[in-house]
Amino acid sequence: MNNFTVIFLIALALSYGVQFWLSARQKSYVRDHRDEVPAAFRDRVALNAHQKAADYTIEKSRLGDLDSVAGLLFLLALTLGGGVSLVFDFWATFELSTMQSSLAAVASIILLMTLIEMPFSLYQTFVIEEKYGFNKNTLGQFAKDQLISIGLTLIIGMPLLALILWVMDSIGSLWWVYAWLIIISFSLLMSWLFPTVIAPLFNKFTPMQDGSLRDRIQDLLKRCGFNSQGIFIMDGSRRSGHGNAYFTGLGNNKRIVFFDTLINSLDEDELEAVLAHELGHFKCKHVIKMLVASSIMTLISFAVLGWLITQDWFFDGLGVSTHSNAAALLLFTLVSPVFTTFMQPISAYFQRKFEFEADDFATSHAQGSKMVSGLVKLYEENASTLTPDPLYSAFHYSHPPAAIRIAHIEAKLQSA
Ligand SMILES: [Zn+2]
Repeated sequence: MNNFTVIFLIALALSYGVQFWLSARQKSYVRDHRDEVPAAFRDRVALNAHQKAADYTIEKSRLGDLDSVAGLLFLLALTLGGGVSLVFDFWATFELSTMQSSLAAVASIILLMTLIEMPFSLYQTFVIEEKYGFNKNTLGQFAKDQLISIGLTLIIGMPLLALILWVMDSIGSLWWVYAWLIIISFSLLMSWLFPTVIAPLFNKFTPMQDGSLRDRIQDLLKRCGFNSQGIFIMDGSRRSGHGNAYFTGLGNNKRIVFFDTLINSLDEDELEAVLAHELGHFKCKHVIKMLVASSIMTLISFAVLGWLITQDWFFDGLGVSTHSNAAALLLFTLVSPVFTTFMQPISAYFQRKFEFEADDFATSHAQGSKMVSGLVKLYEENASTLTPDPLYSAFHYSHPPAAIRIAHIEAKLQSA
């Protein structure tokens, strides 16, 4: 324990304190606005749907609080409680190379985290989602998903970690620049492979059948000058009633994916508007901007780690007696979110700005009024609250709250 322990504890108290305070505000704001549909939605959303959204939001938020408490306790147990040292010391007792025992230690901690997270995701899926009629998942499917995720972590994550650890051990003080280049290339490769290699492990993707919807989409793509490797429908309904649409992939390996649930709930005009919004993200270069921003953040993180790794107080202050590269990498990954919490509103702000820009794009390349009606349907069918707490949403929301977003589209329509 040293001064850094005190700094860590203060940051921890501030970060979790703010999270719990915002969550409490969100729950009470939603509860206070439960009994009246906001004026802008009075003709479009029924009171019982609005109340369902409120109850669903509050229940999910309560579970989120418990999950945070578990995360906080686990973080304290691993750091000041000596957990990281314990796991590293345990693996050091076997006849393994330093690399092997480091990998085993990190893998055990990842596995522990997965186990702690498991009851929360089971409760979320089979109690909350079930209660509100969204759950289509089965225990068998859930177990299979977990096993595939763990398998991917072992097959893809462990060799990557081994490579990073090797670079840390062998390249000298500028190792972090090389590690950064490896991580960036790896994530670009993963984004490129995701639609064709990773996503199909979890879902079935069927090319969209010929028909009026497909023709309209092709037409929209041509109007916007967009190339893609096809339009696919994903069997989202296998797990959940929630609907969505997204773009995936990079460069020449881009796909457009609609959840089957979305196709069933929106009409063709609305689907076209939703897709135009997604295209807006590409055309306004949001994807590239986010990539550049996250590359810069990663570089800064690695540079900071490159410095911390040479400081004994970093290990000692966090209760870790094993001063190794692997322990530093792990500690840094565990602890840095505590210090970066307060950057979240900044990134959320930019994401919301991008959403407005994509809505503007959709309004000029498809029918804005259909974007609005599609959004209202999505809010209603996903039981997303129309009345979030303003501070909570400013901190956390990657999308503008419904009322602000729709008012923005309608203002744009009127000015056109
Ligand atoms: Zn968007």
